[in-house]
Amino acid sequence: MAALRSLRDLSQRPVSVLETVSARKATQLAQWGVESVLDLLTTYPRRYIDRTVQADVSGLEVGAEAAVLAEVQRVRSRPARNGRMVVQLTVDDGTGRIEVVFFNQPWRAKQLEEGTEAIFWGKVGEYRGARQMVNPVVDVVAGVAAVAVGRTRRTLRILPVYPASAKAGLTSWEIGTFVEEALERAGELVDPLPDEWRTALSLWDRTAALRAIHGPESLAVTGPARRRLVFDELFRLQLALVLRRRAFEHNARALRHQVSPREVTGAIEGTLVARFLAGLPFELTRAQRQALAVIVADLAGPFPMHRLLQGDVGSGKTVVALAALLGAVQSGHQGALMVPTEVLAEQHASAVRAMVGHLEVRVELLTSRVKGAARRTMLEGLASGEVAIVVGTHALLTDEVEFGSLGVVVIDEQHRFGVEQRATLRAKGEVGDPDLLVMTATPIPRTAAMVIFGDLDLITLDEMPPGRVTITTRWLPGPSPADEGEAWERVRAEVAVGHRAFVVCPLVSDSVKVEAKSATEEFERLSAGELAGLRVGLLHGQMAPAAREDAMARFRTGEVEVLVATTVIEVGVDVPEATVMVIENADRFGMAQLHQLRGRVGRGTAASWCYLLGGGDDGDGGGPDAVAAERLAAVAASSDGFALAEVDLRLRGEGTLLGARQKGHTDLRLASLSDPDDRLLLTEARKVADAIVDGDPLLLAHESMADEIRLFLSDDEGEYLFKS
Ligand code: ADP
Ligand code: MG
Repeated sequence: MAALRSLRDLSQRPVSVLETVSARKATQLAQWGVESVLDLLTTYPRRYIDRTVQADVSGLEVGAEAAVLAEVQRVRSRPARNGRMVVQLTVDDGTGRIEVVFFNQPWRAKQLEEGTEAIFWGKVGEYRGARQMVNPVVDVVAGVAAVAVGRTRRTLRILPVYPASAKAGLTSWEIGTFVEEALERAGELVDPLPDEWRTALSLWDRTAALRAIHGPESLAVTGPARRRLVFDELFRLQLALVLRRRAFEHNARALRHQVSPREVTGAIEGTLVARFLAGLPFELTRAQRQALAVIVADLAGPFPMHRLLQGDVGSGKTVVALAALLGAVQSGHQGALMVPTEVLAEQHASAVRAMVGHLEVRVELLTSRVKGAARRTMLEGLASGEVAIVVGTHALLTDEVEFGSLGVVVIDEQHRFGVEQRATLRAKGEVGDPDLLVMTATPIPRTAAMVIFGDLDLITLDEMPPGRVTITTRWLPGPSPADEGEAWERVRAEVAVGHRAFVVCPLVSDSVKVEAKSATEEFERLSAGELAGLRVGLLHGQMAPAAREDAMARFRTGEVEVLVATTVIEVGVDVPEATVMVIENADRFGMAQLHQLRGRVGRGTAASWCYLLGGGDDGDGGGPDAVAAERLAAVAASSDGFALAEVDLRLRGEGTLLGARQKGHTDLRLASLSDPDDRLLLTEARKVADAIVDGDPLLLAHESMADEIRLFLSDDEGEYLFKS
C-alpha cells in the first residue's frame, strides 16, 4: 500500500473487502446505502460518548461516571427474586475494591472469572452503604477470556455513536468496528488541497481529520476534524459550480444584443423595449428597474447571461422577463419562455399577449395540446424566425422545435427543471448561445442559492409593487373545535359582503385518494355544520378535469362562495374576490407551501385573512410538535418569503431543500447551511475554487482535485467541465 489512496479508490472497494464485514453485514449495509469503503468512511458519527475518565477505585465518587482498571476477586451468581440471574463481582485495583453487579447477563460469570483484569466503565451507585457499578461496559484486558484491546475497546476512549439503522439491523458498535478497520487499512489518503490553502485556512490534513472524526483522542479534536471535512464537501460543490460556469463561458458564443440600460431609464425612446415599458399601465418598482438594468447589461455584454431572478409571488417577475425577451426580438432574434405546466403556459401566454398587444410582435403558445396543422404552422414560424416570442412547456424541448435564431431563454419556476433541460433549450440557439434567465418564486436563502444555483448570477426582486393589500395571518392551534370559531366567523362575515373563501384540507398522506377523501368529508362536515347555509363547493385532484374546471369556474363567478379543496389550488389560481384562506391541519404543511397557499388570497383590493388551524397539543400524550409550532408561528408572524425561507432552512436543515437534486449536491453529509461557521466556510470554499480555476481552468495541475469532481458528478457533466 505504497501509493496514497484516493477517494475514487475507496469508492471502488466494496465493504466486503473488510474482514469485519461478513456477507450478511455487507447486505445490511447495502440496504442502508453503504456499499463502498468510501460510503462507510463518510458515514459520520452523530455524537460521541466520552469514556476517557479513568479513576482509582479508592477515589470513585457516588454519582460520577468513570472507568476503572481492576482485577476480579470474587464472582457469585444467584437468581434474584424476579427470577433473573444476578452476577455479582468484587473487583480490586490495589487502591480499593468495589462491587460490580450485572442483572440478566448470566454469561458474565464465565467472561469475568476470578483473576480476570478488565476495565469497567459506568456510573458509580450506592447500595446498602457500599459503592457499586450496575451493568457497566466491560473491556477484558487480561485473563482467561481476554480479547485484544484495540479494535474492540469500548472503554477509556471516546466512543463514536453512528446513526445506526434499526431497520437494516446494524448497531452503532458494529459500524464503528467496520470504520476502524477501514481507516486502518486505507492508510494515508490523497489530499487534493494544496498546502498553501490548507495553511491559509487553518485546515487539518484530510487523513488526520477523517481519523479524528471517527476516533477522536479527545472531544476537542472533533471540531477541527469536522471543519476540514465540511470544507471538502463545500469545496467540491463550489469547484464544480465554478467549473461549470467557466465551461459555459469558455464554450459560449455570445450574442451581443442591441439593447441598453438607458432604455430602462427612459433615456432612449422608440425601441421595442422602450415602447413596451412606456406602454405599461404602471411604473416599474425600484427593484424591477434595477434588475432589468442588470439583465439588459448582461444581454449586451460579451458573455451569455446566466442568471437567476428570485422574487416572491407577485413581485412582478413576468414584466422583467418579457422586457428581456423583447431585447432579443429588437436585436433580430427570438425569445422563449418555458414554464412547468400547461395551465401556467396558457396563463403566461395570455398575459404576454395582453402586454405586447400594441407592439406588432408575434407571440405563440406551444404545448403538447397544440397538434396537427396548427402545430406545423407554429413550428415553421419558429424555424423561420417569424414567431418572435414563444411561451411553452417541456414541449419546447423536443427535437422538432427549431428556432431561426434563439436569443433569450427564460425559464420560470426553475426548481422543476433540471440542469440538462436548461442546457437542451439553450442548445437550440443556432447562431450563438442564447442568454439564460431562470426565475424562481420559491425564495432561497443566499447561502443555499450559492449551493444550488452557484453557477448562476443571482438577482433578487426584494420589493412588492405598491398597493398590495395586507394579509392578516392568525394561527389557531386548537385543540378544541371552539378555538377555530374565529376562522369560520370570518368566512361567514366575508361571504356576507360578497367575498369568497378557500378551505384547504389536510395533507393526511401521500395518497391522492386519501387526500380527496378527507377533503370530501370536510366538505360534508362544514356544509352541514360551521358553514351551513353558505354555498360550498369541492375541488380535489381525483375529480375529472372537466368537473375541476367547472368547480373553479363557479368559484370565480361567485356561484360557489367557499371552496373546500386539496392543495391542487396551490399554483396558478387567481381569484381577486377571495379574501379568506383557512388551512386545516396546517402543521402538516411545509413553510414554503403555507406561504404559497396564503398567496392565493389578497390578490384583489380588499383586506384578507389567512387562518392556520391545528398544531397545538393533539392530546395524544406526546405534547405539541415543537418544530411545527415554530413553523406556524413564523408564518403567522411574517409574510416575507425570504425571511421565512431562512427560518425554514434553520428548522429543516438543507437536506430537504437540496433533496434529490443533481448528483454532487447530495454530497453534503456534514455541512449544514444553517450553521454560521459552515456558511463562512462556504464563502471561503468559493474563494479557493475561484482562485484555483482562474489559475488552472482545466485543473491540469490539480489532477486529484479533478478526479474527485468527476467522482462526485455524473460522468457526462465531468466530461463537459473539462472539455477544453
Ligand atoms: P410574479 O413575480 O409572481 O411572476 P407577476 O409578474 O405575475 O408576479 O406580477 C403580479 C401582478 O403584478 C401582475 O398582475 C402584474 O401585472 C402586476 N405588476 C407587475 N409589476 C408591477 C408594478 N411595478 N406595479 C404594479 N403592478 C405590477
Ligand atoms: Mg410568475
